[in-house]
Amino acid sequence: MPLNIEPLVETILKEIGEDPSREGLKRTPVRVARALEELTAGYKADIDAIFNGAFFTVPYREMVVVKDIAFHSMCEHHMLPFTGKAHVAYIPDHTIVGLSKIPRLVDAFARRLQLQERLTIQIAETLERKLKPKGVGVIIEARHMCMTMRGAKNETSLAVTSSLLGCFGSDPKVRQEFLALAGPGGH
Ligand code: ZN
Repeated sequence: MPLNIEPLVETILKEIGEDPSREGLKRTPVRVARALEELTAGYKADIDAIFNGAFFTVPYREMVVVKDIAFHSMCEHHMLPFTGKAHVAYIPDHTIVGLSKIPRLVDAFARRLQLQERLTIQIAETLERKLKPKGVGVIIEARHMCMTMRGAKNETSLAVTSSLLGCFGSDPKVRQEFLALAGPGGH
């Protein structure tokens, strides 16, 4: 429980012109501290433990796709949420991982202060390192509150990022198959 955050939230409330002692705000500092702890729990996530014991050796050689993985993160520039979907695929080279581990991996990297670009790369590179697959593809589409609520106030814009490693980057047919299955508008 990050108790040190509470007085800081109280200061923020005062600085924006609020009265931290009014009824509705009395417990806000503790709520914000708890929420922040939850939203940044990924810093404590043990990536190795997520995969622990979930590797299997199988002759399966086609593309594995887990799409529409909902995630919630916070942009490191404004500490405002960005949320969206991740589509993750790989072509195994003997080793596969339990399918449920992939959303957990996305969650572990999302629950930090992030850049969408870095989140995309971290997911792809971790799968590449752990599975030594023939290739990995990750596409993330997200809406950033820092874009929809402030600044340009572009309510509908969707940021799309991708990371294509191994045969996903080098083989146009693989890339095509992945984009057809998981790309924006492809589902
Ligand atoms: Zn931002």
